Amino acid sequence: MRRPVLILGGTRDARQLAARLADRDDLSVLLSLAGRTENPAPQPVPVRSGGFGGAEGLADFLRAQGTSAVIDATHPYAAHISRNAALACAATDVPLLALGRPAWEAQAGDRWHEVKDVAAAANALGTAPRRVFLALGRNEVRAFEAAPQHAYLVRSVDPITPPLAVPDAEYVLARGPFSEADDRALLARHGIEIIVAKNSGGSATYGKIAAARALGIEVVMLRRPPVQDVPRVSDADAALAWLDACLHPAARAERGE
Ligand code: NAP
Repeated sequence: MRRPVLILGGTRDARQLAARLADRDDLSVLLSLAGRTENPAPQPVPVRSGGFGGAEGLADFLRAQGTSAVIDATHPYAAHISRNAALACAATDVPLLALGRPAWEAQAGDRWHEVKDVAAAANALGTAPRRVFLALGRNEVRAFEAAPQHAYLVRSVDPITPPLAVPDAEYVLARGPFSEADDRALLARHGIEIIVAKNSGGSATYGKIAAARALGIEVVMLRRPPVQDVPRVSDADAALAWLDACLHPAARAERGE
């Protein structure tokens, strides 16, 4: 019998893990997306989309599906769904694993200013007009309407509609990965003086951080929200090992693992 496994996704990590599990005949894998992106990337397993209705809604979903395990591979800044997953799995006694990339660490030459949220980031740009690169989600960039003196270059997966209510903003629609060379060229072409970014970890969006270091550009870095107190791994191999230990403990014991 196939054991239902729920992956909470929206990230490259979730997609890659799903691809590793797609052919398993002992599992029935479902990937859940928030449903924010207009044209989500194709996924290797069946997908459901949209919120569950809080922790209780997710707990009801887990019970109804008879879910055997949940892997929370959501974005490090998607704190609500991670909290809901921790609560729902505790309430239903379903094992939960968090899969995510470690945060980037500042290196010599980096000029980072860490801030707690987008309002603080807008404030950190200062009063004098600057050329700012916003590498943020479309729901986050609105906060910069509070600092209309700056010229903004906004890169997002989906269009920013309506455009920001600021006199000077340009938009680039793009989905990563982004290379350091391309990001360096982009920053230079637009005369960018400061970047606002999230500490996503991994390599796909690190190009702008490496480019900023090379060009001596400041980065206003949004601090990651706190994580839930659940088992945590940083790669798909470790997630697979956890899943097997969860679902097939007898087989592991027989192998003496
Ligand atoms: P969030 O604040 O954690 O989630 C808000 C609500 O969206 C959740 O309570 C849940 O609704 C629903 N939701 C989120 N992820 C879901 C999933 N995988 N499956 C089903 N429902 C889900 O997350 P967010 O508002 O999407 O994003 C917050 C931050 O994360 C932003 O910085 C954003 O740019 C970044 N981010 C998110 C994603 C993503 O796929 N979510 C991807 C890249 C970056 P219910 O309470 O109704 O269940």
